[in-house]
Amino acid sequence: MTPLDTARIRADFPVLATHQRGRLPAYLDSACTTLRPEPVTRAIAERARAGAGCPGRAYHRLGREATATLEEAREAVRAFLDAGRAEEVVFVRGATEALNLVASGLPLRPGDTVLVTGIEHNSNLLPWQRLARRSAARLRVHRIDVATGFDPAAFARDLDPSVRVVAIPHVSNLCGIELPVADVCEAAHRVGAVVVVDGAQAVGTRPVSVRALGADFYALSFHKMMGPGGIGALYGRADLLDRLEPLLLGGNTVDDATYESPTLAPVPARLEAGVPAADLLAGVVAAIRWVGALDPAAVRAHLLDLNRAATVALLALPRVSLIGPPDPAARGGIVNFHVRGVPSRDLALLLDDREAVMVRHGKQCVHAWYRAEGVPDSVRASFAVYNTLDEVERLTRVVRSVASMIG
Ligand code: PMP
Repeated sequence: MTPLDTARIRADFPVLATHQRGRLPAYLDSACTTLRPEPVTRAIAERARAGAGCPGRAYHRLGREATATLEEAREAVRAFLDAGRAEEVVFVRGATEALNLVASGLPLRPGDTVLVTGIEHNSNLLPWQRLARRSAARLRVHRIDVATGFDPAAFARDLDPSVRVVAIPHVSNLCGIELPVADVCEAAHRVGAVVVVDGAQAVGTRPVSVRALGADFYALSFHKMMGPGGIGALYGRADLLDRLEPLLLGGNTVDDATYESPTLAPVPARLEAGVPAADLLAGVVAAIRWVGALDPAAVRAHLLDLNRAATVALLALPRVSLIGPPDPAARGGIVNFHVRGVPSRDLALLLDDREAVMVRHGKQCVHAWYRAEGVPDSVRASFAVYNTLDEVERLTRVVRSVASMIG
């Protein structure tokens, strides 16, 4: 394994060379959204400059070119996720829309159970809460002790035959742990449940094969993997997508329509209402290429170096507690912590002000977990391939000075 050439990588991100009151920014918020490398922004601009055209419906030259971009992107995502067929890839606005599409389109009966974990992002909890309300299904929450991680045996005990849907994160945005998705899928399939995987935090930091995982649905957002904002994808097993009720209806979704009713188009068009975003799709192709050029083992080693440095320094401080396992190897690129007595917003502001260190504060879109645990909020630093040990040192220096000031 050759270590990552961080200097070369950073050259693709001009914002990292743009001073903020005399300091270079230390962007430690990639779990929220990653920066976009030059080849991605260039691909979007070039596609836009080359001209517009409605993909899939206009047969003039610009329309054909836009259609080619759509097809290229669909095939690129299929290969990236190792899906069997390009038609199993549905373009949406992001993971949130993908999860809403599944939760609004799956037929459930009163008494059916949807099983989720207690560490779901709001985007993989609220849509299921609504589905349960509307269909008189039950929502069961499998609580996870984030310090020790996911316990497959305990999870299996919650999998009774009433469970029709299991919704889990592949990687948690709360604490960075990776769930054994393949094992969960196997256990869920034994009781006849479908598994919906929120892959927002997994893609881009590790290779994903939906076929090896056995996932029935897999949701992702490209802005979390160096791609453009406002676009994501839903992978769905072909037979399940066929039975999924569309979330939106309109242009692109029909083969024909009368004043009374439509004849819906086959998937994926049936689930992709409106004109596809060709400019963004060009950025998706470029992002997949950019991420695909990195050695996954080198990415993992780099994230671990950064996370280890952050963890060792933070755990040595008074009043600091980590959310998640103490071992950084179990948390990918995420270190989520709170400093007792210091509101996370104040700490985040101070980090930005003193050292141009950018982190996420608050309840990290996992409000239910914070409420249930009585943890008010936290600061989450999250690392990507462009981050350096010097940036981690700037983070921990500020936290050290705050923790010792009040300790
Ligand atoms: N799930 C997880 C685990 C996430 O981290 C996020 C983004 N914070 C989402 C879902 C939602 O992604 P998006 O906002 O791009 O739809």
